[in-house]
Amino acid sequence: MIVSFINPYDRVYMEVTHEILKKIPKLDLHRHLDGALSASTIKRIARKQNYTLPTEDPDELAKYVQVSPYCRSLAEFLKAFETFYPLLMNPKAMEIAAYEVSRDCFEDNVKYCELRFAPVLQAKGDYSMEEILDGVLTGCKKAHDELGIINPLILCCYRSETLESSIQTVNLALKYRHRGIVAVDLAGDEEHFPAKIHKQAFDLALKNHMPVTIHAGEAGGSENIKEAINVMGATRIGHGIKVVNDPELYQEVKVKQIPLEMCLTSNVQTTVASDYISHPFEQCYRDGLKVTINTDDPGVSHITLTDEYFLLKQYYHFSWDDIIKIASNSLTSSFTTEERKEKLRSEMKKEMESILEREVDI
Ligand SMILES: [Zn+2]
Repeated sequence: MIVSFINPYDRVYMEVTHEILKKIPKLDLHRHLDGALSASTIKRIARKQNYTLPTEDPDELAKYVQVSPYCRSLAEFLKAFETFYPLLMNPKAMEIAAYEVSRDCFEDNVKYCELRFAPVLQAKGDYSMEEILDGVLTGCKKAHDELGIINPLILCCYRSETLESSIQTVNLALKYRHRGIVAVDLAGDEEHFPAKIHKQAFDLALKNHMPVTIHAGEAGGSENIKEAINVMGATRIGHGIKVVNDPELYQEVKVKQIPLEMCLTSNVQTTVASDYISHPFEQCYRDGLKVTINTDDPGVSHITLTDEYFLLKQYYHFSWDDIIKIASNSLTSSFTTEERKEKLRSEMKKEMESILEREVDI
């Protein structure tokens, strides 16, 4: 009789590579629609509107709408938006944007992406917030129907805008939640505009069981994270990297397992973190805080979610177990139904197991 058994120590160690990371299923919880446009999408939108870009050459255009990999300047980062922002005040443009950004996600095997944008910013031209939102929802649905990607929306209120505009945004989110709006956010300049100005709008969201995430502790301090959680009712925090500056808050975020939507490259390029090594991502992860990895503005940063995952291996030597844990954090932190999470979980488990040739506990 021949007895065969598998010795676990014989298992071939599969290295974490960019190629395999691209293949595994992923989730992105923090991706701004306007900051996610590729140069070719911008070109297509401009052509539709007979808008003259500084150049027609794709490589040259990229220099205007993307920052260099060595960008370490908020001013340079914001300047990239100036070239194409006027183009986006149009529902058709936003429809193309939503469709093509969702397709970019699909090509990076991002199964689930919560796209976000601030209707108040796009409604400064000839169209209303509602018309702009309708364009985005149409583009998202088209991508979902064609590609199967799950791409719900988060509507952002804006710190430097009025309370009235935030109330309007929340009302739109509530009105269109049946078309896939899953949460509201507060974005913008957190150093000069406290969140509490917009409290009434966020109370309206909470009263109607609409989840809240807030950009806090990115360029501003840890007190903004406290405000987001304790005053505004946020159950997720955009960035939140300054959590490390306040030991009591750090403990609270850990104990309550409040998800942090971290975005490495964006933080380094806009200089809120001085480099990848000193970024608090690894510390927070190793200490058991619920961190997730996201892209923020992948068009401007010229990155993919795969690139961001690969940074975890490059700078923090993450193993497959760590990578799977991060993906699992994203799944459990997503603003979707428990039923959809379960479905995604079993699909991702199956797909990861076949790629990694091992059991995956996601
Ligand atoms: Zn953001």
